[in-house]
Amino acid sequence: MSDQHAVVTGGAGFLGSHLVDSLLNDGYQVTVLDNFGSGRPENLEHVDAERFETINHDVSEPFPSLNNVGVVYHFASRASPKDFDSHAVEIALANGMGTHNALQFASEHEARVVLASTSEVYGDPEEHPQHEEYRGNVNVRGPRAPYDESKRFAEALAVAYEAQHSLDIRTVRIFNTYGPRMRQDDGRVIPNFLTQALEGKDLTVYGDGSQTRSFCYVSDLIAGIRAFADAPSEVAKGEVVNVGNTDEVTIFELAELILEIVDTDSDITYEPLPEDDPKIRRPDISKATGMLDWEPTIGLEKGLKRTIEAFDD
Ligand code: NAD
Ligand code: UDP
Repeated sequence: MSDQHAVVTGGAGFLGSHLVDSLLNDGYQVTVLDNFGSGRPENLEHVDAERFETINHDVSEPFPSLNNVGVVYHFASRASPKDFDSHAVEIALANGMGTHNALQFASEHEARVVLASTSEVYGDPEEHPQHEEYRGNVNVRGPRAPYDESKRFAEALAVAYEAQHSLDIRTVRIFNTYGPRMRQDDGRVIPNFLTQALEGKDLTVYGDGSQTRSFCYVSDLIAGIRAFADAPSEVAKGEVVNVGNTDEVTIFELAELILEIVDTDSDITYEPLPEDDPKIRRPDISKATGMLDWEPTIGLEKGLKRTIEAFDD
């Protein structure tokens, strides 16, 4: 597939820009569609391949015309809970209209689609760990609804396009991922804690810190997504897989680990837990590890140290 043309929506963002690097390394021609809402030109400034272009485009509008596209990675959407109310409409439309436009565009090109879904489709889960078969516990009227319900709608649209247009769509449910190129003011917990620790400020634990997450280092995530995207149709067409790391920690443990790693005078302060904040989260990745030659390899301490180096730059 090295002569293929890939479109990456959201390619100027955290995950999208790492995906762009991976595709360019494998010889793809890559076109990024991004409105630079939460993405940054700096995430792509190291790229000098002739096989690369960026188009400033909002995915909730129909896609521009492009030549011979073989695969569309639809990653455009803000993903930080901090933005779920301030950018609620933009988020809902990026996952609603944006997914429709991505799938419509892919149909015209007969291209494969890789859809970025999320562990948020499981809501505040009542099953643990979360397997792909679990249908979730999501509050349709809650403050996270513009994000989690629009991701669920995006998945439903994928099912609709598969049924009506026989498109080859692969849906990846991404669990909490971190690493270089996250914005320090992104609002998610790892950039928050690292920035606070590096600046000698207290780490803001929401609630009592007993809620859990399972953090995946970005290179592991991208390797899993690429393995899924490149798998033969007989194996992966129409499938949904969880991709993430299964090492689960409480947010309090995460804060303590960061205080241990960073030489800082910071302490921990407690702030209110946001409404509908999921209490537990850990992916069951047996489907992905069984289907693909993939498993995560980078532990939390090692990944945090690499992220700190990037934040220090
Ligand atoms: P990010 O905010 O760094 O990247 C999102 C990118 O999409 C940015 O470049 C932004 O400018 C762009 N974008 C947003 N709305 C757009 C629009 N309407 N039109 C064009 N571009 C738009 O976030 P990220 O963490 O890299 O997330 C990327 C994708 O992965 C998202 O779809 C997100 O839902 C999904 N995801 C991420 C995580 C994670 O832990 N990072 C977890 C689950 C799902
Ligand atoms: N969190 C926290 N302090 C912060 C930011 C987040 O304690 O400064 C908590 C948040 O309440 C959640 C967890 O950390 O329980 C992960 O939050 P994040 O926003 O990174 O991602 P989420 O998994 O909630 O989408």
